[in-house]
Amino acid sequence: MASVMESIKKKKQEIASKTNRTKSAKPLPGKNRYRLLPTWRKEADGPVFVEDGKHFIKDIDPATGKEKIQAVYNCDAIVNGTACDVCDALAAAAHSADIDDSTLNLLEEAKARGVILFNALHVTGPDPLVPIVLALTMTTADQVFSMIIEYDDAGVDMLSLTAGIDLIIDKTGSGFETRYSVIAAPKSAPVDASVMKSINDLDAFVAETDEARVKALSAISVVSGVPAIGRSASAGALTDGTKKPTAEDMDIDDEVPDFDVEKLAESAAKVEAEIKTATDDTPELKPTPDELAGVSEDDILIHDVTNAGLAAQLALLEFPDAPYPIGIFRQVNEPVYGEWAE
Ligand SMILES: [Zn+2]
Repeated sequence: MASVMESIKKKKQEIASKTNRTKSAKPLPGKNRYRLLPTWRKEADGPVFVEDGKHFIKDIDPATGKEKIQAVYNCDAIVNGTACDVCDALAAAAHSADIDDSTLNLLEEAKARGVILFNALHVTGPDPLVPIVLALTMTTADQVFSMIIEYDDAGVDMLSLTAGIDLIIDKTGSGFETRYSVIAAPKSAPVDASVMKSINDLDAFVAETDEARVKALSAISVVSGVPAIGRSASAGALTDGTKKPTAEDMDIDDEVPDFDVEKLAESAAKVEAEIKTATDDTPELKPTPDELAGVSEDDILIHDVTNAGLAAQLALLEFPDAPYPIGIFRQVNEPVYGEWAE
């Protein structure tokens, strides 16, 4: 019966990883032992972790008055380091003129927070041979990375099945007071290589579909009453809270170019040349009185360095079509490792 259960569990895990429905798990409260696993890819030197961050777009359910998740989307900015339409739409919606506090709160909660995902065995858990997707906060992952580097310097691969080292993660407190401390286990047993058969494909885990993006953008529109927009949308659309999204508004894929190194180098050279010749009175960058007519204070978007979506939008401005932004795009207040450890 044990082997039947094991094969069922394995199958379940396989199906889950195929359908991308496996849920990531945070370390459990108290002291728990985890073993990080090697890469899920075929090549031996493949990655052992991915960065993930989910946008949970919630609305208030009128029947219960409680928050209800309408869409979930893996943030492109966090996962791929590319512009994220969902971040942009959240930022645009939050800066809309007629947004109330409770909607603003929903938009704030829909921002993605980065985590690091590893394949791991929960050695002290009920299924110690089933790889889970372990989600670590950035500060906890930082501790783990330091440890991996230290052991590597000493010639030990912490993630090796045979010679690897278990981590003991101690979770204390809850909510904002949650603290994780990580130590290496004094003694670790080898891991049976068969666990790799049910390893989670973390590439698939963070991959997103166009459908999910459209669903997320549409959910933001519904929650905020602000149409979802692509990056080429006009300033007018940013503040027009009454305009309903059209199919065209949603179809923004074509506006996001693929990453192209040659093009980037070309545009960098172009910018450099243009900055050399540009002067303060470059006429096309100054709004004309006509363009300013009817613009109220509410129409003006003030940059907020704590807003990742706005920072991403600033980063997309390209001279000479737009002003060349200089200054602090993004500022994050996080304890540095030394402070945290105390
Ligand atoms: Zn995003």
